[in-house]
Amino acid sequence: MRFASLGSGSEGNALIVEAGATRIMLDCGFALRETLARLARIGVDPAGLAGIIITHEHGDHADGVFPLARRFGIPVWATHGTLAALSELGIEAGAQANLIDSHAPFSLGDLEVRPFTVPHDAREPVQYVLSDGNRRLGVLTDTGSSTAHIEASLSGCDALVLECNHDLEMLMNGDYPPPLKARIAGRFGHLDNGASAAILAALDRRRLKHVIAAHLSQTNNTPELARTALATVLGCAPEWVSVASQDEGFGWREA
Ligand SMILES: [Zn+2]
Ligand SMILES: [Zn+2]
Repeated sequence: MRFASLGSGSEGNALIVEAGATRIMLDCGFALRETLARLARIGVDPAGLAGIIITHEHGDHADGVFPLARRFGIPVWATHGTLAALSELGIEAGAQANLIDSHAPFSLGDLEVRPFTVPHDAREPVQYVLSDGNRRLGVLTDTGSSTAHIEASLSGCDALVLECNHDLEMLMNGDYPPPLKARIAGRFGHLDNGASAAILAALDRRRLKHVIAAHLSQTNNTPELARTALATVLGCAPEWVSVASQDEGFGWREA
């Protein structure tokens, strides 16, 4: 199983995951032309995507999904709440949409897709653990706080893409208006470096070979702070922790 990111952050997110003959996309927050350019960069033909799974309706995750799905006839999977919220925003999924149960795993070709619910200010947000039956990739972004369910879901993974949205001090001392600061730092907002490190510390990490910090704020965080927070838990050099950038994401990694 291998995976790559087209970009990560509040301006757009998309991850590609491949197992056996199956290649899927997780979220697409980029405009069609941008998505195609980024896919080309990592050698992915969009027509070969077996599906797109969505975490939640926020634009940085969902805006690019249906333009891409319609253009190439790619089926989409999302929770009832996510599809309802998109519909209220005027985004009609049409025939491409498949409903997922946020507590039930399902198969997409050679990939097992296991959604888990998260506290975030969206209608029915989920994050995912993806597996080829042997290796497991856990993805957690857009979560305001941790839960026992999150930690049980992510324990024992071979690879983790983990939100390090902000440094709490940078956020609180920065220029954002107070209501926005409260939303981001709230229990249904985003994970700061310390909260992310605490989740990592709570997991079974015996199989863990890849840790990638993701969804970093370009205003309220730095790659160095995120790396250091996670490396402290892992007892490794900060350079061992990768960071998914907004412009580049990250290249292919073998889980
Ligand atoms: Zn987001
Ligand atoms: Zn969000």
